[in-house]
Amino acid sequence: MLDSTKSALAALLAWQRDMGVEDAIGGAPVDWLARGDAAPPGQGFRLADTATPVAPGAPLAAAPRPVPPQQPVARTAPSRPAAASASAPPIAPVAPRQLATASPDAALMAARTAARQAGSLEELRATLAGFDGCGLKATAKNLCFYRGAAQSRLMLIGEAPGRDEDLQGKPFVGRAGQLLDKMLAAIGLTEADVHITNIVYWRPPGNRTPTPQEAQVCRPFMERQVELVAPDFLLLLGGAAAKGVLDVTDGIMRVRGKWREVTLGGCTVRALATLHPAYLLRTPAAKRLAWRDLLAVKAALAS
Ligand code: URA
Repeated sequence: MLDSTKSALAALLAWQRDMGVEDAIGGAPVDWLARGDAAPPGQGFRLADTATPVAPGAPLAAAPRPVPPQQPVARTAPSRPAAASASAPPIAPVAPRQLATASPDAALMAARTAARQAGSLEELRATLAGFDGCGLKATAKNLCFYRGAAQSRLMLIGEAPGRDEDLQGKPFVGRAGQLLDKMLAAIGLTEADVHITNIVYWRPPGNRTPTPQEAQVCRPFMERQVELVAPDFLLLLGGAAAKGVLDVTDGIMRVRGKWREVTLGGCTVRALATLHPAYLLRTPAAKRLAWRDLLAVKAALAS
């Protein structure tokens, strides 16, 4: 094949990929406009049902299955639920065990319903343990719910469990947690005085930052947790927690050190973002900023 043909084909493929083409469904290109068909291209095809489990060893690409005429072809789930039409069939409830493969919207709706029904922290823990709508659960060893007091005036929210937390099933028990305990002790607090949790309840693989979707599906549980703990103050540890709770886009250096009022579920609390203890371990010079924030927390608790 001529080099110029090869590079033209490569450019064409790159363009198709950029346009969102994911599958090749025929060996030869079809000029749909020239054919003048009444039906839109692809009408006779449907993607395999994403909630259907695939048997180990089964081919990844399912053979196209015919669908009744007029059924629209969805390539990807819409980011928002489409407005219900009068003739649309009712949406079947999603059984908990199917959630990991259900759409993000279905998982979020299930999270909201389940979280609302928890009447105590122990019920919320049990609900989380049975919830399969967050993909992180699949790779985590344990659920990390909280450590510290069940009710407390100060609630601390971090980013996500790490390796030690995953092994022990408790937030902030590794090196960063040990520094956090020292920071709390410096303002006269012990674990028994605070409630410590994270914006997601399972360890992300390789300790990566949780995705916005993972944080979003855990958020109804976090909001219910805040309602049940009923703190006066939140201390948000690091940029991911600040973004996840305060809905801000600025980096932690801009966001930290300022009290903000935030409403989570039915609870309005004052929240302060500060630097993450893991960052302080890597950047000891930043401890003076964290110290300022801790003094602000101490003053707030004394007021
Ligand atoms: N870092 C976090 O953000 N949370 C933990 O629980 C541990 C480390």
